[in-house]
Formats: sequence, structure tokens, C-alpha cells
Amino acid sequence: MATRELHGVKIECVQGNIEGQPDMEAIVNAANAELRIGGGVAGAIHRAAGPGLEAECRPLAPIRPGEAVITGAHHLPNRYVIHCLGPVYGMDKPSDRLLASCYRNALQLSEDNGIGSIAFPAISTGVFGYPLEPAARVALGTIFEMLPMLSTVHHIRIVLFNSADIQVYEQVLNEFSGK
Ligand code: ADP
Repeated sequence: MATRELHGVKIECVQGNIEGQPDMEAIVNAANAELRIGGGVAGAIHRAAGPGLEAECRPLAPIRPGEAVITGAHHLPNRYVIHCLGPVYGMDKPSDRLLASCYRNALQLSEDNGIGSIAFPAISTGVFGYPLEPAARVALGTIFEMLPMLSTVHHIRIVLFNSADIQVYEQVLNEFSGK
């Protein structure tokens, strides 16, 4: 686990499961355009939330790459789920700008809803094929850029599924925070 405190915001990278973060007010879904169950992160979140989540999502779909929408969390232990559609790497272009929009829009929605803590998965790095290290640079770079603008958000967690992935994120976090 790596933790930093910058601009009064705690930023941490942890290994774990996105649907097992009960202390976070919002979790982010690496959604598909139709906001349906799917696999990976979306599958885990929808299974844990129950069918009410898909029902709430239905009128909000489809969304485009880079966009984010917010719903309740249903049976999850959180208050909100923020659904982001990441870019399919190399197909939805420019992939880096679209991935950055996901993080920016999710943080903006958090501010608009008075959310204090938010957990992100590594959006687009699974089925959507975004290479991990460039994705980590976009994710943490965008979060760092947003820090001075945040007032309600005071805790940001990135949840990585694999131990190899967390090492990459930790290295980028160290680099960006000058340690
Ligand atoms: P995308 O379609 O945006 O690529 P995926 O859900 O396929 O989204 O994967 C995004 C990342 O989340 C991948 O790095 C994958 O290993 C990881 N992941 C998969 N399941 C979980 C989970 N339950 N919790 C956290 N991360 C997960």
C-alpha cells in the first residue's frame, strides 16, 4: 500500500476488490456503454449491488467514452456508484484524453454530490486493453491536476486487483509526488 497526503487529500493505492471498500462513500465502475452487468469490475459491482442497480442504470444509458454518471449503490456498502466508460485502447481516440476525462468527470460528480471519499479501479486496463503504466500516468496525473480544485473530496483510493499492478501504480505515485 502507498499513501500520500497532498492539498489535504489522502491518495492511496491498495490491492483489493472494488466492491469490498465499505469505508468509501463512492466507488467507480469501469462500465460498458450500456451500463449492463458485463465482466471484470462491472460484473463484480453489479453482482454485489443486485438487480436494482441495473434498473437504475437503464434510463441513463448509453454513455460515451470519457463520460460518467452517478447512481445509488443498492446492496453495496457504499452510498454511490459512479459509472465511467473508459476508452477501448487504440480505438476510442485520443485514448489518453478520454481516460483522463473519466477521472475528471468522476471527481467532478463527487464534488457536485458532496462526496468525501472515492475508490477507483484501473479503468480501461482490463478488457479495453489500455497498457497499465500509461494508464497509471493518466489516472494519477489527472487526479493530481484536480487536487487544488477539490473541496468535498478528501480521500481518493485506487484499487488494483493484482499485486504486479499495484507495484506499477506505487512507482508512478512516488514519481509524481517527488519521493
Ligand atoms: P475495462 O473494460 O475498463 O478495461 P475491466 O473491468 O475489464 O474494465 O478491468 C479494469 C481493471 O480492473 C483491470 O486491471 C482488472 O484487472 C481490474 N479488475 C477486475 N475485476 C476487479 C475487481 N473486482 N476489483 C478491482 N479491480 C478489478
